[in-house]
Amino acid sequence: MNTVFKVALSLTLIMGSTLSFANEVNIYSYRQPFLIKPLFDAFTKQSGIEVNVVFAKKGLAERLVREGKNSPADLVFTVDIGRLNEVKEKGVVQAVSSSILTANIPTQYRDPDNQWFGLTTRTRSIYASKERVDLNKLQSYEDLANPEWKGRICTRSGKHPYNLALIASMIAHHGEAKTETWLNGVKDNLARRPQGNDRAQVKAIKEGVCDLSLGNNYYYGKMISNEEQSAWANAVHLTFPNQNNRGTHVNISGMALTKSAPNKENAIKLMEFLSQELAQQIYAEQNYEYPVNPNVAPSGLVQSWGEFKSDNLSLTTIAKLRKDAAKLVDKVAFDE
Ligand code: FE
Repeated sequence: MNTVFKVALSLTLIMGSTLSFANEVNIYSYRQPFLIKPLFDAFTKQSGIEVNVVFAKKGLAERLVREGKNSPADLVFTVDIGRLNEVKEKGVVQAVSSSILTANIPTQYRDPDNQWFGLTTRTRSIYASKERVDLNKLQSYEDLANPEWKGRICTRSGKHPYNLALIASMIAHHGEAKTETWLNGVKDNLARRPQGNDRAQVKAIKEGVCDLSLGNNYYYGKMISNEEQSAWANAVHLTFPNQNNRGTHVNISGMALTKSAPNKENAIKLMEFLSQELAQQIYAEQNYEYPVNPNVAPSGLVQSWGEFKSDNLSLTTIAKLRKDAAKLVDKVAFDE
């Protein structure tokens, strides 16, 4: 009797897990739940496929390596080309061949081997004090090294992935020697030792500590919609550097299919869904970013910040030069 009960019970469990197996997709995400949940809700509503999310601030690539082919994860969600490149280099993701993905996502924003795909873009912008900065004197990243700005620039660590990607783009355009001179110049212009996050720099502009800072565009939206921080945002212009030449440096948030994906078919369905209009709109709006799909317009607020040209340097090139960028940050003792 007891044995029969056990058999029946384990059958139910197997059937139960088989059923959910067929109807779910599992995500490892560095992106915060509030950003991605509305997307996944829309996907579940349309497809009937449940989306399970494990959120972590770090260590997801290592976790995928550790779990190997037993990993329950199907997809990785993250920001920054550095992290997307990391999962590719660690060999824990696989290529996806999908005509929907290649039609919706411009070449520049996906891996040449189809192992990662961008979903949104964000600019590395310069924030400038409305009261104390003449925007005519600030046209480019290169301008940040001008003596004009001595003691007037604030930034987070030079080693932060957002700054590393920008410095890597400078190396790609100018070579290492010129970038070193530039970085030294920017360091000489700092108002204080690099510290805090992007928003903390805008707060410092508001408080008169400095006049310029580096920051991603979406923080402008986050500050505007935050009761305490809107005063910081109101003290600055959000600018898009290098409009007279190569365009503003952009980075991406994106996704990759794990090598072991147990729900591969569902995962690819979700990837394709996310590249299409409805999801692109929800995702970009949620975090004041730009949709990668050129057929989708940014939110009204983001559009109000103006149109700009973005640097079309390949993100793969940026990923390759990140290590050299980190070495330069050490060499000029940028953070010290
Ligand atoms: Fe960020």
